[in-house]
Amino acid sequence: MKIYPTARPYIGVREERYVLQALRSGVLSIGPFIERFEKAFAKRYGVKYACAVSSGTAALHLALLAAGIREGDEVITSPYSFVASANAILYVGAKPIFADIDARTYNIDPRDIERRITKKTKAIMPIHIFGQPADMSAIMRIAKKHKLLVIEDACESLLSEWKGKKVGTFGKAGTFAFYPNKQMTTGEGGMIVTNDASMDALCRSMRNQGRGEDAAWLDHPRLGFNYRMDELSAAVGLAQIENIHFLLKERAKIAAWYTEFFKALADDIDVPYIAPHASHTWFVYVLRLKNGGIDRDAFIQDLARRGVRCRPYLPSIHLFQFYRKRFGFAKGDLPVSEAVSAGTFAIPFYIGLKKSDVRSIVRTIEQTLAIHEKKHV
Ligand SMILES: *Cc1c(COP(=O)(O)O)cnc(C)c1O
Repeated sequence: MKIYPTARPYIGVREERYVLQALRSGVLSIGPFIERFEKAFAKRYGVKYACAVSSGTAALHLALLAAGIREGDEVITSPYSFVASANAILYVGAKPIFADIDARTYNIDPRDIERRITKKTKAIMPIHIFGQPADMSAIMRIAKKHKLLVIEDACESLLSEWKGKKVGTFGKAGTFAFYPNKQMTTGEGGMIVTNDASMDALCRSMRNQGRGEDAAWLDHPRLGFNYRMDELSAAVGLAQIENIHFLLKERAKIAAWYTEFFKALADDIDVPYIAPHASHTWFVYVLRLKNGGIDRDAFIQDLARRGVRCRPYLPSIHLFQFYRKRFGFAKGDLPVSEAVSAGTFAIPFYIGLKKSDVRSIVRTIEQTLAIHEKKHV
């Protein structure tokens, strides 16, 4: 039986060559590769500044700090996200305020953002989920009207576009993550992009223990962290961004196969919905069970036994134990996000899957579904 993992990074010969170069150079941190990676990334993104850090979480932390978000502030964000996005708001002492999501795109619902604005609201942090932009026209309109900052968590949506403009370039700063399951990887790693020189300078200083911008070793004017990206990771990142057209093209090809084959199961399963004005760069391929009677988790366990490894994707953050305890959240607080969370799961999705693999995975899902539907008649 062939085993299909949920995700797998794509590493080519260029990645191997650059890493070997970095290893043999004798410079393993703060060297030429991080500089080349940042330059290539900024150029590809069409922004003035790109600051590489040790993870996507670190990128979010620094972006929020550099934007001046602090204790007592409220940041409106989505509960349907990876936990890092809300955690980063807590790191700076601010309070995450969850707005509910759109039932089709799974992105934050702008109408609910507006309802949750208070005197304490300082920023909106949209998450561009699964590879698809949030409604940035509405979000920027609300931000302007209420004089709020926008920090974009674009960790899942590298190079996707809203009305032809890249995610991460709408607000004060955008963040990216390069964990091995993302569209591109550096092992662990992240990036902050901005067109604001002082924002970039602050992030650079804080990733390196708060060191002065030009005084180098001479002074540490502020509190900082060790959020540096090492040269080996940057070498992988440079190879990946140089090859990003291929990486995204391959992902789009596999997604299109899935969408084609799943048409036959349209009564039981929703495939990803792509909004008008949005492009999709396919971080994951997420299905949603339409039939509420099926036990999603038992269904996934059964699929794993047949070699198709899926993951519940994503649980709503406000219902995690820590968030419930800290803020008193309960079931029913964000009904759309909760309903979506109950039925969505990510299926095997990575470069290297052939059309025959995709066909076989879809067939396994179809057969397993039939068994689970019978159980519930
Ligand atoms: C991956 C991800 C991050 C950051 O993850 P790291 O593992 O710290 O690189 C942040 N937000 C979202 C929405 C993500 O998917």
